[in-house]
Amino acid sequence: MKRVYTFGNGKAEGRADMKNLLGGKGANLAEMNLIGVPVPPGFTITTEVCTTYTQQGREAVVKEIQGDVEKAIAHIESLTGTKFGDAANPLLVSVRSGARVSMPGMMDTVLNLGMNDEAVEAISKKSGNPRFAWDSYRRFVQMYGDVVLGMKPKTKEDIDPFEEVMDKVKEAKGIKSDTELQVEDLKELVKLFKAAVKENTGKDFPTSPWEQLWGAICAVFDSWMNERAILYRRMNQIPEEWGTAVNVQAMVFGNMGNTSATGVAFTRDAATGEDIFNGEYLINAQGEDVVAGVRTPQQITLEGSRRWAALQGISEEERASKYPSLEESMPECAKDLIETQQKLEDYFKDMQDLEFTIQDGKLWLLQTRNGKRTGAAMVKIAMDMLRAGIIDEKTALKRMEAQKLDELLHPVFDKDAVKRVKVVAKGLPASPGAATGQIVFFADDAEAWAEKRKKVIMVRIETSPEDLRGMNVAQGILTARGGMTSHAAVVARGMGKCCVSGAGEIKVDYKARTVEMGGKLYKEGDWISLNGSTGEVYDGQVPTVDADMSGDFAAIMNLADKYTKVDVRTNADTPRDAAVARKFGAKGIGLCRTEHMFFEGDRIKAMREMILSKDEEGRRHALDKLLPMQRGDFEGIFEAMDGLGVTIRLLDPPLHEFVPHQLATQKELAEEMGMTIEEVKLACDSLAEFNPMLGHRGCRLGCTYPEITEMQARAIIEAALNVKARGIDVHPEIMVPLVGVVEELRMQADVINRVAAQVFEERGDTVAYKVGTMIEVPRAAVTADQIAEVADFFSFGTNDLTQMTFGYSRDDAGKFLKIYKEKGILKTDPFEVLDQKGVGQLVRMGVEKGRSTKPSLKVGICGEHGGEPSSVKFCAKLGMNYVSCSPYRVPIARVAAAQAAIEE
Ligand code: ADP
Ligand code: MG
Ligand code: MG
Repeated sequence: MKRVYTFGNGKAEGRADMKNLLGGKGANLAEMNLIGVPVPPGFTITTEVCTTYTQQGREAVVKEIQGDVEKAIAHIESLTGTKFGDAANPLLVSVRSGARVSMPGMMDTVLNLGMNDEAVEAISKKSGNPRFAWDSYRRFVQMYGDVVLGMKPKTKEDIDPFEEVMDKVKEAKGIKSDTELQVEDLKELVKLFKAAVKENTGKDFPTSPWEQLWGAICAVFDSWMNERAILYRRMNQIPEEWGTAVNVQAMVFGNMGNTSATGVAFTRDAATGEDIFNGEYLINAQGEDVVAGVRTPQQITLEGSRRWAALQGISEEERASKYPSLEESMPECAKDLIETQQKLEDYFKDMQDLEFTIQDGKLWLLQTRNGKRTGAAMVKIAMDMLRAGIIDEKTALKRMEAQKLDELLHPVFDKDAVKRVKVVAKGLPASPGAATGQIVFFADDAEAWAEKRKKVIMVRIETSPEDLRGMNVAQGILTARGGMTSHAAVVARGMGKCCVSGAGEIKVDYKARTVEMGGKLYKEGDWISLNGSTGEVYDGQVPTVDADMSGDFAAIMNLADKYTKVDVRTNADTPRDAAVARKFGAKGIGLCRTEHMFFEGDRIKAMREMILSKDEEGRRHALDKLLPMQRGDFEGIFEAMDGLGVTIRLLDPPLHEFVPHQLATQKELAEEMGMTIEEVKLACDSLAEFNPMLGHRGCRLGCTYPEITEMQARAIIEAALNVKARGIDVHPEIMVPLVGVVEELRMQADVINRVAAQVFEERGDTVAYKVGTMIEVPRAAVTADQIAEVADFFSFGTNDLTQMTFGYSRDDAGKFLKIYKEKGILKTDPFEVLDQKGVGQLVRMGVEKGRSTKPSLKVGICGEHGGEPSSVKFCAKLGMNYVSCSPYRVPIARVAAAQAAIEE
């Protein structure tokens, strides 16, 4: 088993398609070597070693890979002409993590490893630049102390001991920026940093490069299991088994002086998808300086720089002198970079996110990966590349992260309203979208407020990975510091969350929990709105309008329809929902719940009268009042779905849900029905059940009170005939809920067919209709072959099926499911993501058994899962005819269904 893969000088043992083993970073470092992009030499320790580390610990791993690592270091030495641990010509390396998929800000990197009191002198002499040598040394001690020796503060209240020392030194010297530190200051810093290490850990700072190296390698493996990494994995459904690789790589230095720099770039605009190369850099800087917001980063291209300055309100003169673009400050390097980025994008055929360093005028690439992007950028880039012939249709579809399409469906700020509101601050358009919410400053508060269903906007000076939880629940994020590639910006774009970053003029006071913007002091809880597409911050709440769904979005949807084998229907109870869903491309209604129709206005009264009636005659009297109302509703829905199938479910919830529980309403009802209040109370109480979800509901109502089914069947058939007479192409499908025994369905079907025949006779006209059932009781799935003898169609009600298969009450499971997920007992919430191994097997059985008796059986799903991409794919692969989901999930399901067809 090969555990260490080397790369360098145009050769590599790994390849881009070995991400599972080498991690994304390692695999692409190898590939860049192979295609002639300049990359410092190094090696990658595989993800399998991480698994061994987690299971067997440090000693076992060191023993296993020691020989390989020593050989691989020798490989770097031979390519660089340096020697690890040598007093005269030392090799310095970086130690970097790298999982299969990129996890921004999750894993920590150590730079300049191999540095010690001898090495610093040698490097100082060799480079003729003592400032650079000592700057590298002090950075190393700090990074090593933070990452490997565990001195990084755990909470925000704790202060990084190194930052504290740094601030003191800076204050004593009266300087602001790191770049102003002189050699003597840096030497002093190294001394103080080491003292801080001794004080914090009780041990001297390790001087042996080999000890440093093993410490750092193991720290990377450890970081796979740190809290932030675990949280990110949970949020993004990344399995723990994957592990991280470790990359060890010769250092190149961006901090060698004014001919050196470091930066990050995107081959296209990650927010809008426009084909514009863009990025940021800093002269005389190293590693994460650009993203950390220590200094204001500068733009790479001149055009980008001018746009940036305009947004910041900086004059052209000031821009050119203080913040020149790379094209101006290092034109040769800029040219190389522009060529290289094009080469990388052409090669990987996708938008790339790059990290580079310029050492004394020479460009080096340190990372490339497919860049995170917003939903809008995802669609535009795929369609642009398809039109340019770079990728084919199937690839364009596969590139869709279906869930992200959601961002494109939601409203944007009303252009006219925006003109009237006050712009209180302006920052960078870091991640598009329209967000309105109440200000909070801390992640904990964001979580707590969001739990109470409040809409919040997180306002921060800058964000760090600790803020992830808060960002996740916020409507949007506003930061005072940080550029387009800052943590906030990158993470927000990944989440598809609106973000305005680097709004320099806002003054955040964490202690007072206030932010000053546009001359106004905003407190925690005050309302603001963010426009992530322009970088504007507005006072108060701003109205929104519907999103535009033409152009590239429509093109992707057309592609989806071309490849899909499954129709996407919608769950809709009103003509309005039906119309929205149709706009999103729904091919019919998979679930129309009739009970919602009974709550409006006077209807609930008639409903209650029906429920509380003592005998059939009373019930029929009340049902007669409900009939025309239901008929009217159905007509509206049939009209909205002209030409398409509409599945209507008969009354489903326990009757208890319809009766009044408050005294005042009970009194009112008593008066209306000519009953005493006691009688009403008694009747209401008698409907109470210990376990209503398993009680008198679903077809059990229709089987005990057939007159309810009669009324609903009549309303449906009459409505169908009425709209037919108006020229509408109507396809009613009547669905009986909660069937567990075939006799239930047979009895209900008899009622429906009898009523239909009657209505046809009365009207002298007919219409084709279907009678089917939901499969949502486990027994129904198990006896699906019998049920299919009666049913024209099946629709899997996976909400109830999940509830009854797991035995988890949907209404009570929230409490323990959260803990189950944290403890890893369940990977996902089975009410959100279909449990393919358990519930899914019942679904499979239902489909197969059903079709064994009736090959023509039409099958669909109408639970919440019908809009969740992995569940949609599962259903598609089972050969269902359709999935049905809420209107806003229709486009997501269409793309997921098409992807399932392509993957087959
Ligand atoms: P992350 O996964 O968080 O992006 P990286 O491993 O990419 O972490 O490294 C953090 C920073 O250090 C990046 O800016 C990267 O470019 C820089 N860096 C890593 N290795 C080297 C190296 N050998 N020489 C110079 N800079 C490096
Ligand atoms: Mg990092
Ligand atoms: Mg990186």
